[in-house]
Amino acid sequence: NKLKDGLDKTRKGITDKIDDLFNNYGEIDDELFDELEEILIIADVGIPTTHKLIERLRETLKQRKIKDASGVKDVFKDVVEDMLRENNSVPFNVGDEPTIVIVIGVNGVGKTTSIGKIAHHIKSEGKSVLIAAADTFRAAAIDQLMVWGERVGVNVVHQSEGSDPAAVIFDAIQSAKAKKTDVLICDTAGRLHNKVNLMNELSKVFRVIDREYPNTKREVLLVLDATTGQNAIQQAKVFNEAANVSGIVLTKLDGTAKGGVVMAINSELGIPVKLIGVGEGIEDLQNFDPHDFVEALFN
Ligand code: GDP
Repeated sequence: NKLKDGLDKTRKGITDKIDDLFNNYGEIDDELFDELEEILIIADVGIPTTHKLIERLRETLKQRKIKDASGVKDVFKDVVEDMLRENNSVPFNVGDEPTIVIVIGVNGVGKTTSIGKIAHHIKSEGKSVLIAAADTFRAAAIDQLMVWGERVGVNVVHQSEGSDPAAVIFDAIQSAKAKKTDVLICDTAGRLHNKVNLMNELSKVFRVIDREYPNTKREVLLVLDATTGQNAIQQAKVFNEAANVSGIVLTKLDGTAKGGVVMAINSELGIPVKLIGVGEGIEDLQNFDPHDFVEALFN
């Protein structure tokens, strides 16, 4: 099971530790919650989310009249799953009608790779896909995207390095309209060093989309790198001010013990995690499902 394998490191960071704690503890007391709190914070669940989870755990344990630590884990799983569900509105499912997917995020988080994987996934469902290489600030970004395009058999609309990202998207939209493409995926530049610049660039891109492709189903995916932990939350806050993010792609979960960041993102930002990256391969991007996630993590 790829998800379970992908969560190996996080399982060592959270599950092995809480198993140790709950199994050998005895009667529930305040110190138990203190120890649980420490485990969760170290695993990057984040302080506000940790407190929220522990408060709900205490309440639920009381309601269910559980007195012994050996019964805590099952309740904890339920509490985590419920919290993850709160912001998990709709799963990532595109292409039943013409859709434009705008992908944002800083360089290095796995944006290009995720676009390749998403394109492959949509195409394997029998839908047509087009990619727009609108991260025009790095020649390497355009080249890499074209390599992915070739690999998955999807056309990549591109111009030369330094050209106007909005112009690339304009071209791509005309092409998508002409060919009645199901899903147009747009890469964008990931420069966060200057928030005003970022906002200006993105708003220009969105203006073109509003004008050229109105009434088209829109998904704005923010790609975040799970290995950066709490830093990812900071990035999300900035990007969410610049664009109306509809979902998060959380990459490299396989590379970190701090997968607890899924919970932090979900509860602190109120934006659903829609896709998770659990490896470098073309199939290693999965729909995020709270139940599957909790089962894979805690069993
Ligand atoms: P970009 O600069 O944001 O476009 O990042 P890239 O797509 O080039 O990815 C940067 C590196 O992260 C590459 O080596 C990818 O193979 C790797 N990567 C992306 N997603 C994942 C993932 O889910 N798991 C792992 N282990 N590596 C990933």
